[in-house]
Amino acid sequence: MIHKANLHEISEDGVYRGTLKPHGRQVLRLKPLSKFIHTLLKLKIAVGAACHVAEFVVAHKFVREFVFNHIANLPIKNFVAKIVFGAYDIQKPKWGMNMADNFVISGAKVLMPDGTVEAANIFISGDKISKIGGGDVDGSNVLDGRGKFATPGLVNAHTHASMTLLRSYSDDKSLMDWLQKDIWPVEDKMTRRDIYWGAALAAVEMIRGGTTAFADMYGPCMDEVAKVVDESGLRGSLCRGLISFVDGDKKLADNVALYKNFHGAANGRVTVMFGPHAIYTCPPDYLRKVAAEASKLGAEVHMHMNETLTEINDSIKNYGKRPFEVVAETGLFDCGTLAAHCVHLSDAEIEIIRRKKIRVAHNPGSNMKLASGIAPVTKLLAAGVTVALGTDGASSNNNLDMLEETRLAALLANVDTLNPTAIPAAQALQMATDFGAQALGLKSVGRLEVGCKADIGLWDMRGVEWQPNYNPASLLVYSANSSAADTVIVDGKILMQNRELKTLDEQKIIAEFTACANRLTGK
Ligand SMILES: [Zn+2]
Repeated sequence: MIHKANLHEISEDGVYRGTLKPHGRQVLRLKPLSKFIHTLLKLKIAVGAACHVAEFVVAHKFVREFVFNHIANLPIKNFVAKIVFGAYDIQKPKWGMNMADNFVISGAKVLMPDGTVEAANIFISGDKISKIGGGDVDGSNVLDGRGKFATPGLVNAHTHASMTLLRSYSDDKSLMDWLQKDIWPVEDKMTRRDIYWGAALAAVEMIRGGTTAFADMYGPCMDEVAKVVDESGLRGSLCRGLISFVDGDKKLADNVALYKNFHGAANGRVTVMFGPHAIYTCPPDYLRKVAAEASKLGAEVHMHMNETLTEINDSIKNYGKRPFEVVAETGLFDCGTLAAHCVHLSDAEIEIIRRKKIRVAHNPGSNMKLASGIAPVTKLLAAGVTVALGTDGASSNNNLDMLEETRLAALLANVDTLNPTAIPAAQALQMATDFGAQALGLKSVGRLEVGCKADIGLWDMRGVEWQPNYNPASLLVYSANSSAADTVIVDGKILMQNRELKTLDEQKIIAEFTACANRLTGK
């Protein structure tokens, strides 16, 4: 009978107190031999438990590897199913400091929507800004904003996050040589794991630079990028890069699945667009198919447009028209469009952009590095076009530093127009924040005003480059660098505080990322 007892209930004096079926509650005194057996049993249980733990760890590791490499590759249509299968347990968000849902950033210099700067407190309730105003605040839920410049989080309106894996792999080449000879062959070898860790490193880089949202276009497995958006706490507008040449229909089906499974996920922080890569990789018939699928779902489109003169000339040679004219005829622009680059534009194309309410992502760093040209940004702004800013992929920039991009946009416009007032600092910041959010199709994001999402960057103004401090907006654009990003908040959650990341394990990400990059490039 004794061996059937629950041994946790046998006290050290060898007395069992409990219920032994079928005799009901009893008290049994063990004989010395029984005590000896009992000790052996306890020992066996201890050893057995240790074995079970070891087996569990090994089995768990095996299962996770298996899920990561096999199950997660299957077209599982249900997000919940993936959670059940364990594909989403690699890094759980920790959501930073133990701040209540409601807190206040006290005593910061605040960049207001009209470009002015005020000393104020920002009250955050849940995921929104509930009040901005002066006066003393006290209580425990106070984040000290003194000496900090509060701006809306920066929005990277065009990037390829996992391309961090190819940073510095191939530089100083023309766009087509760079893409076709060096980049695409390595991208063809990328696995699900590579996409995940590449995007995870990008997320670290973006948060550390004060970025809170990004528009991403890349190859297969964009669900891995969605996972990174979920875990990091960032906002991401994702699309499957569509190139028609090989398996064009399958890629389009991937984009449809991405939309159905992830649009609106992570409390709305993940949104999904359709990603026809460019006119030179997607002929008009294919663009018509994309437009049909996107409009069926009410989805918008993210596409490279008019990046190089070669692209324009090939379009005229192949179709007798410039790219915007060709694409407009496919109906794609009627879905709502984010067009990246737009470097070479005719007046007729600017009119199409204006009429179709196309938002432009200007990428000055990439355009300069690849010698693509200078986008007519001031002309677009004068036409009332929403011009946002993007870094493009880290392989053509070579970083995801949106503050640097903001400065480049301001300076390049001056050079382009020979006018030092072409894009003032406050307007450059508006392009990097408010216009960026609009470019991603995000409502109530990109401005520090009541009712907007609490997506906020706090910049540390104690560095020497901030002295003297006459104009924080000017200092941020022309003088500071992105290491001044001190605290980053998205949806009212703190992703970084005092430069300490709260949602991502940076060292682990760098180690896994480096292993992926080395395997891919053989370096
Ligand atoms: Zn791009």
